Amino acid sequence: MTSITEPAAPPVADAAPLGEFDIAIVGAGFSGLGMAIKLKQAGFDDLVMLERADEVGGTWWSNTYPDCACDVPSHLYSFSFAPNPNWSQTYSTQPQIRDYLRTIADHYELRPHLRFGHAVREARWDEATGRWEIATSHGLVRARVLIPAMGPLTEPRIPDLPGLSEFDGPVFHSARWDHSVDLSGKRVAAVGTGASAIQFVPAIQPRVEKLYVFQRTAPWVVPHPNRPIRDVERRLYRTLPAAQRLVRGAIYTAREALVLGFVKRPRLMRVLERGARRHMERQVPDPELRAKLTPDYTLGCKRILPSNRWYPALGKPNVELVSGGAREVRGNAIVGADGVERPVDAIVFATGFHATDMPIGRAVRGRDGRLLDDLWQGSPRAYLGTAVAGFPNLFFLLGPNTGLGHSSMVYMIESQIAHVMGALETMRRAGAATVEVRPEAQERYNAELDARMAGTVWNTGCASWYLDETGRNATLWPDWTWRFRRRAARFDPAAYELRAGVGAAVAGAQSPTAASMPPTRRSSTSSPGVAHTSSLRTSTSTGPA
Ligand code: NAP
Repeated sequence: MTSITEPAAPPVADAAPLGEFDIAIVGAGFSGLGMAIKLKQAGFDDLVMLERADEVGGTWWSNTYPDCACDVPSHLYSFSFAPNPNWSQTYSTQPQIRDYLRTIADHYELRPHLRFGHAVREARWDEATGRWEIATSHGLVRARVLIPAMGPLTEPRIPDLPGLSEFDGPVFHSARWDHSVDLSGKRVAAVGTGASAIQFVPAIQPRVEKLYVFQRTAPWVVPHPNRPIRDVERRLYRTLPAAQRLVRGAIYTAREALVLGFVKRPRLMRVLERGARRHMERQVPDPELRAKLTPDYTLGCKRILPSNRWYPALGKPNVELVSGGAREVRGNAIVGADGVERPVDAIVFATGFHATDMPIGRAVRGRDGRLLDDLWQGSPRAYLGTAVAGFPNLFFLLGPNTGLGHSSMVYMIESQIAHVMGALETMRRAGAATVEVRPEAQERYNAELDARMAGTVWNTGCASWYLDETGRNATLWPDWTWRFRRRAARFDPAAYELRAGVGAAVAGAQSPTAASMPPTRRSSTSSPGVAHTSSLRTSTSTGPA
């Protein structure tokens, strides 16, 4: 059977019985945790979170490669309702973000809802009962509402290099770093030069004997503005939370300005290209290496990478940059596009993820048993990245076209969470058993997206993981992010069909007609009711950014 979420680690035993729940969330990263918090605060307590790993954190749990960090500032890359005044630097490391999310899970008392080591293998909508049947590695879960919250950067992509299976040494992907392998004194091949490679290559370079970096396309690299946050700033944020909100707002606004170049006027990117070129000239004295490192596409077409350590690392005597990518593996040697065999002891792939061909497409069946993949035909589409016609009571978080090249995904996640809450509250008020986006609303929305995508920097000719197999950008949101927020957060019932029970449409969103609606409890408080910890400040506002 296809697996949506193969375990990142062997499943841990969990004695908690499976069964029927009102709502099932798949994944306990930023989006799953944020969704669970808001559901609980609104009284949707009958909730299970299925997580294949053995701790919360999602991508910030599974990516443990050396020097893994976030290239979006922490004040923005955190929940608006749970700012952390104690970030130690402006851009946080993976362990810091992982710990933030653990604190969130504890603080909002999410642990009783979590089922670790539960890989979801298949989910199908049962029209007769109006429930999702979710097959997990530990048994069957039924739920009225299914919320896949796994994110698009979950399943590592390893190129099918001829001869790779015969390589007699450690081979792993950056998102599944094998810490049992000591790379010290080894000859290592790093394949890929994206956001992950740019972080771990400078970290491992000093300890390996030889490092071959296989670059297929040179990325645009800009100076990294990370700096320590001073004690006085942290004290200010603790005593005057508005100050941190102000900083967050300023970061949001500055980053949003990039939309002008991304979406409206790609030619504006030339200004940033000049800065990136100067950065390279300062850091790469060797003209031959500089030529190899000079990108041949418009800045922004692929993700812009901030680093002050990438270029200096590539200039070290034990590093060779191999242009053209990796072609095959021959015995214990990796062969580049130049045909040269380079003997290595280990191969690390930093070759990205199955972002537009996620396994979920082959494992989720909606009305009439239809597979998502059959519907999508290689090009994922949804309404507001959240709902798909033919798949009742299913809400994606970080579904198609919710990605960003410039700002915080947490902002998009919170916008989608507001949308899902609008849908569930509307159902509750109307006494509806199912909610399903109307096909015409979904089509209109995607036609609009595609039209807006036409003039963007992502369509200027580079080959990026943003594009699906049909060449359509199924990944990014092509507009100001506040426009997404405005549209998603205000749930529009006209885009959806509400049904009282199987076959019966609800006459109006306000008319409670369904006897089949399962009872949901409304909690008396909307605050988490947990004492504030010193490391995390929480509020119940969803804030603008
Ligand atoms: P990626 O950006 O997709 O980069 C993959 C790299 O592998 C590219 O350089 C690609 O080259 C190369 N590649 C793929 N197949 C290859 C082959 N057969 N031979 C040689 N090279 C090959 O993957 P990633 O670095 O893991 O990052 C993925 C995304 O994760 C990022 O874009 C970002 O959204 C997110 N991320 C974020 C952070 C953060 O700080 N917030 C950090 C890491 C990752 P081409 O360019 O030629 O395709």
